[in-house]
Formats: sequence, C-alpha cells, structure tokens
Amino acid sequence: MRLTILGCYAATPRTFTNPTSQVLEIQNHLFLIDCGEGTQVQLRKYRVKFSRIKHIFISHLHGDHFFGLPGLISTFRLLGRENELHIYGPKGIKEAITLFLKLGDSWTNFPLIFHEIESKETTLLFEDDRVSVHTIPLDHRVYTNGFLFREKEAPRTLDVEAAKHFGVDKSQYINIKDGADGISKNGEMVPNVKLTLDPPKPKSYAYCSDTAYKESIVPLIANVDALYHESTFLDSEAHLCAKTKHSTAKQAAQIAQQAKVGTLVLGHYSTRYKSIELFKEEAQEVFSHVELADDGKVFEF
Ligand SMILES: [Zn+2]
Repeated sequence: MRLTILGCYAATPRTFTNPTSQVLEIQNHLFLIDCGEGTQVQLRKYRVKFSRIKHIFISHLHGDHFFGLPGLISTFRLLGRENELHIYGPKGIKEAITLFLKLGDSWTNFPLIFHEIESKETTLLFEDDRVSVHTIPLDHRVYTNGFLFREKEAPRTLDVEAAKHFGVDKSQYINIKDGADGISKNGEMVPNVKLTLDPPKPKSYAYCSDTAYKESIVPLIANVDALYHESTFLDSEAHLCAKTKHSTAKQAAQIAQQAKVGTLVLGHYSTRYKSIELFKEEAQEVFSHVELADDGKVFEF
C-alpha cells in the first residue's frame, strides 16, 4: 500500500505548498483522494500516470478539496481518454462539474459516472474482489466524508516445500490452491492447512479530512494500518477549531490512540505556523507513531 501526498496544506495554494490531494496505490488500483487546485500539475511532477486513475473520491465541496477537478477532467478529455471515470462525492458535485463542462461546451468523450453521497451513516462506495471503500462520516462546516480503504484477505498460497515433503503430486497443486486437502504418495490425507501458507495480513487506510474532533469514528477506523487525520491547528489555537470545525494535532493523536492505528499521518496544516515539526511534537505527546505528510512525500504501509 503506497500513499503519495500531492498536497496537504489548508486553504490557499502557495509557491511551495498545495491544497489537499493524494494518491493511494492499493492492490493495483490508483485511487485519487480529493483534488485541490494544482492537482494535475502535482500528478505530472510526481509521474503518476493519468490513465491509471479510474476512481476519484471527494470528501467535501470546499474549494481546497475539489477546485482541481474540473481542470483534471478537462485534461483527461484533451489526452483522448476513453475509459470510464468514476467520481464519488457529496450530492451537488454532479451539478457543479456538469455546469463547468456545459458552459464551456466541453462534454467529455469518455463516460463520466457520478456516485453522489448523502447518507450520514457509513456507506459502501466501491468493492471488487481485492478492495472495499467505505465512507467515514465526519463533522465539518459542510457535509463531509472521509474514506476507509480495506484490502480483502488474499487466498492461501501453496507451500511447495511442504507439498514435496509430504510427497504430494504436482497434479494436485491447483486443487490445493482452491482449498482441497492433498493425498500423499502413501495414500494418506494431508490437510490443506499443512500444504499452504497464510496470506499476508490485509492492509487498511483511513482518510479523515476535514473534521472537528469526532470520537464516534473510532470503532469504524479501529486498528487500521495508517490513519491520515487532519490537524489544521495546534492546541494553542484550539479555540479556532469550534468555529471552523477543524482539529488540532493533539486531537488527531487522541483519535489515533483510541483507534489503536498503526501510523498516524498528520496533514491539512494551517499556513500560519513557521514549521510543521510543531504538529509532530504536539501529537507525539499523546501517540508515538506519528508521521508528517508533506507535498511529494511517499509512504509505504
Ligand atoms: Zn473544509
């Protein structure tokens, strides 16, 4: 599971920082999460292949999370895209994007499929045989969802050494991979579990931005390998959180600690602070496994 941060700062784009967008590579999918202004420039800079993006997840309709989307869709068209593009986001996103396209008389020549979200409960957005994606209902000034990405358990793999040890003939390998028991050369049954290896533990990633401190998400994101949680402010500006419905680094760490996540990745920093290291220091007082997102940074989980 590989996460590339394209942008992770709040509010306005600046010379060296970008508003929110990230790419999650999981089980051969390339999911784009949020699409702030400048996302397509960042995709080019970090050499993400445009044609591999088939699903885009938008948390909410504040500009710093989706103003890059009309431009990206327009570029897909200019690049001659033919594949379907699925967009998941709050109700209203279809109207917003189609108005842009309509006014510019620039309909896409590829299928553009909107999946509008309006539920306040967690909802399944996408599923195939390898991955599922659910919403994480958040608490922000407008209707907002985070996203929970989970790998599915892979099948057990054949342990060739064990098969040889028990004298199991190769002709049985396909059936054993499908779950069958084996027969040794002496005609004895060998249980499947002795001939196969445990699959790797499925990975999971939770993206939570933007949100006020919201304890009710803890059961939903419990034990994920990585949690990206916004930390717009430090505790010294906690009074601004109530008004703007954002979180402090300390609050993000409290959520991470309660949910017993593997790694907490902080982001969505207000640009008022001199150094983002301050966010890490504050969070580590509560939770030890803290990483700082930064534009262009890649995490492997
Ligand atoms: Zn917002």
